[in-house]
Amino acid sequence: MRKTSLNAQILAGVLAGLLLGLGLSLLGKESTVAQAGLYIAELVGTLFIDLLKMVMIPLVFTSIAVGVANLRAHRQMHKVWKATLGFFIFSMMLAILLGLTAANLVRPGAGLQLAMFQDAMQGFRAEQMALSDFFAHFLHSLFQNPMTALAQGNVIAVVVFALLLGIALVVGGERYANILILLQELLELMLMLVGWIMRLAPIGIMALLLKLAATQDAALLATLIEFIAVVVTTTLLHGMVVLPLILYLVTGMTPLKFWRGAREALITAFATSSSSATLPVTLRCVEQHLHVKRDIAGFVLPLGATLNMDGTALYEAVAALFIANLAGIELNLMQQMIVFLTAMLAAMGAPGIPSAGMVTMVVVLQSVGLPAEGIAILLPIDRLLDTFRTAVNVEGDMVGSLVVQKWVGHEQHINEH
Ligand code: ASP
Repeated sequence: MRKTSLNAQILAGVLAGLLLGLGLSLLGKESTVAQAGLYIAELVGTLFIDLLKMVMIPLVFTSIAVGVANLRAHRQMHKVWKATLGFFIFSMMLAILLGLTAANLVRPGAGLQLAMFQDAMQGFRAEQMALSDFFAHFLHSLFQNPMTALAQGNVIAVVVFALLLGIALVVGGERYANILILLQELLELMLMLVGWIMRLAPIGIMALLLKLAATQDAALLATLIEFIAVVVTTTLLHGMVVLPLILYLVTGMTPLKFWRGAREALITAFATSSSSATLPVTLRCVEQHLHVKRDIAGFVLPLGATLNMDGTALYEAVAALFIANLAGIELNLMQQMIVFLTAMLAAMGAPGIPSAGMVTMVVVLQSVGLPAEGIAILLPIDRLLDTFRTAVNVEGDMVGSLVVQKWVGHEQHINEH
């Protein structure tokens, strides 16, 4: 008998997790069964994330170094990085535009009483972060002693170091060929480990979703339903219409084909709320199911996991307008343009970890004089919203790698004539 496919098992895990989680929440917080269930779910879910994070840093390091070395050797690096950054900025701009338009039309939070949230806001002290400090902080985080960066799991600093190493490997030429081969083999080994870890994905994802479903506060969700609806609808619109449309127009790939290949990564992103932890799965999906060349995927995806965040950019913009509405402040066109720009910076500066977007949102709020304490209102529902935005963040990276591959390949084709 044929073994059930991993995909089917993962889908079963999603369903079982959500249903069991809802079941546990019906039992109530005091029930011993619910407490034991939650404890086990937390343990198993975190272990799954730990395993992904274990391979993530060596994987990022090797895939970028090898990818850059190979691209440079084939004189494609120039085109690839331009296409990559161009796509990241373009898709995030579309996402923010979508979010701002919807938030202006629906005006979530306009009728709500700020007084309702007074308690939450009083106990909350947002860290002050001026735009200039934020920018300086971001720049400093780019360059770090590689050992520290590897040990601390600072993805962006690992990316930068691996990028430089990859370039040096090519500039150095034949003399360093052995190191390149070594890195290549290390990368293959890491991908093998990812394959093993993915066998645990059904159970890990089940545990993560069980905990998510069991710990939602229904009353709070009901109060903020309008805001949640705007965020979820626009995020889904971006993920299910805008990104697939770009993909189809550029590469001719149909959405169904894309989703079938991308499914494992999208579900893992949804369950873990972390683009970085999902990265091993993203790389695997894009290479094995969507047939992006390893060099391009190895460059675009790790960079995208930290820089390209469509879901986060959209969220930051909508949330800023929501807090403005709550506080009864009308943002004019100029201020909304500032929100547009800072939301993009805040999304790029957010690392791919759960709720990172919440932290960098202080920058957006402060840039237009909104109370940073407003974040306290959003924190309790963030785990829920982070699911959708992380999935769309990861989807944007995958679409990006396909689009970049097409652009680079296409230009090469033209040059040949
Ligand atoms: N959790 C998101 C991610 O990893 C970042 C965010 O909080 O928006 O992509």
